Amino acid sequence: MKIVTRFAPSPTGYLHIGGARTAIFNYLFAKRHNGKYLVRIEDTDTKRSTSEAVEAIYDGLNWLGINSSEKIIYQSKNLESHVKVVHELLDKGFAYKCFLNSKELNDLRIKSRANGKPIKSPWRDNKCNSEKDEYVIRLKMPIKGTTTIKDYVQGEVSVKNEILDDMIILRSDKTPTYMLSSVVDDYEMGITHIIRGDDHFNNAFRQIQIINFLNWKKPSYAHIPLIHGTDGSKLSKRHGATNLIDYRNMGFTREAMLLYLTQLGWTSHNDNDEDYEFEKAIELFSLKKINKSPAKFDIKKLYSINSKYLNKIDINTIYNLLTERFELVLNINQERRLKALLPDLLKRVNVYIDLKDDFEWIIDDNFLCKETNKVKLLQENNLIINGIGDLLKKCEWSKMSIDYCLKKYFQDNTLKFKEVGPILRIALTGKTNAPDLVSIIYELGCTISLNRLNYKY
Ligand code: GLU
Repeated sequence: MKIVTRFAPSPTGYLHIGGARTAIFNYLFAKRHNGKYLVRIEDTDTKRSTSEAVEAIYDGLNWLGINSSEKIIYQSKNLESHVKVVHELLDKGFAYKCFLNSKELNDLRIKSRANGKPIKSPWRDNKCNSEKDEYVIRLKMPIKGTTTIKDYVQGEVSVKNEILDDMIILRSDKTPTYMLSSVVDDYEMGITHIIRGDDHFNNAFRQIQIINFLNWKKPSYAHIPLIHGTDGSKLSKRHGATNLIDYRNMGFTREAMLLYLTQLGWTSHNDNDEDYEFEKAIELFSLKKINKSPAKFDIKKLYSINSKYLNKIDINTIYNLLTERFELVLNINQERRLKALLPDLLKRVNVYIDLKDDFEWIIDDNFLCKETNKVKLLQENNLIINGIGDLLKKCEWSKMSIDYCLKKYFQDNTLKFKEVGPILRIALTGKTNAPDLVSIIYELGCTISLNRLNYKY
């Protein structure tokens, strides 16, 4: 059997990290089995769906590289087919027209609630039709027996059919509901595995009735627990950003985000093994290893994965990310300097965006520290800085000689590196927290380094 999965977001906001994780799990499972992973935009709720939200979904999936194996499907394009199925259910007696007006419905709702029963409209067994054109179509849920779903994550769960409400499948404006459209689309798209948030688990027991009535092949289900915050409550903005793209803007790399979301609720073969590449997850992925309890989104863990990744990343890749993100246009010398210093700089940050303060001193040939309190410090130590500059002037330009020169100066002048090192860093970079001094001097080159060290503050 060829595996076909789908990610079916409703375009009503941004791409939530929970949605992104659902997409990743669907993608991984399909890839693991050489199947297809499809994206379907569930845009039938015209009041809430927006084109901006569709763009946000595209943007997020593109960023992660979790793209549909085929052209993206829009649920709204298949309405005719959905309505046809509604009529088939109606003709076969599995659905009925309900002519309750809103007051009658409200009364029924109150009565049903008081009895602890789901809504069953009196029109369910009323064979006669009303003349009115104002009706909804409801599914005639079975009353007897139980419905059992064997879910990869939730296990085998049975519910009594008597608790299922006669859900609406066609609204009074003759548009089909998500509950119906989604089942029809899944069937027509040949979806074999439905992997989605467990907030839809209840829906599965109702949706499966349509499949039973029409004798369609049942898909397998995996309902994933929703993501929680570190305090154990459902993840919300209170815990930090929930919009996937915010993490790109915060400077996380796609690879780290992908890996973190993959590990969020899914345990690979080895709990402690976090260092695998995403491609490895494709080999390892299994629905059975999805955790039954909600995963906690922990930004600290994401930072740690990201910083580990930054230290493994190919320098050209990160260089391209930086120049694109910060719209840097560099000449060949600036490019060389930045690339040479990047490995060291990357050790000091969790997200690449934190490097933005380093561009000026690396790129700008004429950079000089201008921060008042730091300039004051430089003024106080001008003699030392200039002295080192003078010594370096005569130095052969290699890391070893630069190192030797610095050490010699400190020794001759009974200075401690601990005291002078930070001042030299300020003179060269404007910062106290900067890469190794010898590397800075060497990579900036003789002219630039001496300009900065011999400057009269
Ligand atoms: N469109 C639904 C949502 O965004 C998902 C439906 C499904 O996966 O079946 O929550």
